[in-house]
Amino acid sequence: MSRNLPVNANRIAEDIQALADITEPGHPWTRRAFSPLFLEGRAYIDARMKAAGLETRIDAAGNLIGRRAGKRTGSGTIMVGSHSDTVPDGGRFDGIAGVIAALEVARALSDQGIQLDHDLEIVDFLAEEVSIFGVSCIGSRGMTGQLPETWLSRETDGRDLATAIREVGGDPSTLPSQQRPDIKGFLELHIEQGPVLENERKDIGIVTAIAGITRIEITVEGRADHAGTTPMDSRADALVAASQLVLDIQRAAAERAKRPGHFAATVGEFRIEPNAANVVPSKAVLLIDGRAEIRNDMEAFCEWLDAHVIKLAIAHGVSIKSPVRVSDNFPTPGDAGLLKTLEGACETVGARHRRMASGAGHDTAWIAKVAPAAMIFVPCKEGRSHSADEWAENDDIALGAAVLFEAVREMDKQI
Ligand SMILES: [Zn+2]
Repeated sequence: MSRNLPVNANRIAEDIQALADITEPGHPWTRRAFSPLFLEGRAYIDARMKAAGLETRIDAAGNLIGRRAGKRTGSGTIMVGSHSDTVPDGGRFDGIAGVIAALEVARALSDQGIQLDHDLEIVDFLAEEVSIFGVSCIGSRGMTGQLPETWLSRETDGRDLATAIREVGGDPSTLPSQQRPDIKGFLELHIEQGPVLENERKDIGIVTAIAGITRIEITVEGRADHAGTTPMDSRADALVAASQLVLDIQRAAAERAKRPGHFAATVGEFRIEPNAANVVPSKAVLLIDGRAEIRNDMEAFCEWLDAHVIKLAIAHGVSIKSPVRVSDNFPTPGDAGLLKTLEGACETVGARHRRMASGAGHDTAWIAKVAPAAMIFVPCKEGRSHSADEWAENDDIALGAAVLFEAVREMDKQI
């Protein structure tokens, strides 16, 4: 890249490679939260933070934080970060790119002898991915008093979450009272995990909103009968009705997705009973994962679904209980002021940008509940993510880090 960036692309490449090397052998690139490898990765990041002149600590929620004091004591904190944990067998850049880009912002400020008015904190959030405890975004929820207390007693392999947080250096007993009123602005860089930026040849996605996630369970009940003797026109086949429902959901979601605002719905879990070759299926349970940038779209989809299953049940001679919302999170819009700041930063460094929603959840969604927050995406190859093939070009990450650098400087003036 011929651009003259305020950040050092080589340093970014070196750190991302060093973390990629800390992986389960035979399972690239695996460094799951709470594992010895995770701690090894963290020790590397901690050392790099210290080498950049940051004062490091682990907060109560087990987040690794590197701090650079500002000139105006007590004027609050600008926070930049992401997560260094991975899913199994994937995630060389997911989260890691954001942690290292944030660290590079701090280094670039030092290189240029810039001291901000505000404190700057670089954060590696604990366990953003679904961890061995079955829950995600532990660090960002915990930092802001949003971690459900009941989660602390979740147990895996004879160890509960409270113990695991303590083992990484946190203090779970103080989590319910955690607050960070000092955070004046939060930014996260992340790989897109989708193909839009690459296809449109854009450098940066400015994330307008993190889609809300609604999970809906539907139970279809038919009648078990002999698969050999029951005539085709005398069956109440739960699987056939459920299969039609899957297709109808796909069609309805595809229609809605044509309109402005990100929308997606997926039947990702499906099980049938008795699941035997010679028995007409008596029961099918499916779980829908719905994502919407606009809350009204999700409400409309749920209304359609409620009405549709009644019609479908009659047509197929089965019974379908009212769809149950197992979980329901609202979309999180990016802070309007920060979105403008990020656009300005893109212009400053010459990055081609567009606004877009995030279909995936991120730590930003939790920080956004207590402070102005926004995130940017950088392209990733063919949109592949959560896979060993996940790839992002270092120049793209460096350009994203430069956008963060400019945005942080602007935030320091504005807030
Ligand atoms: Zn991530």
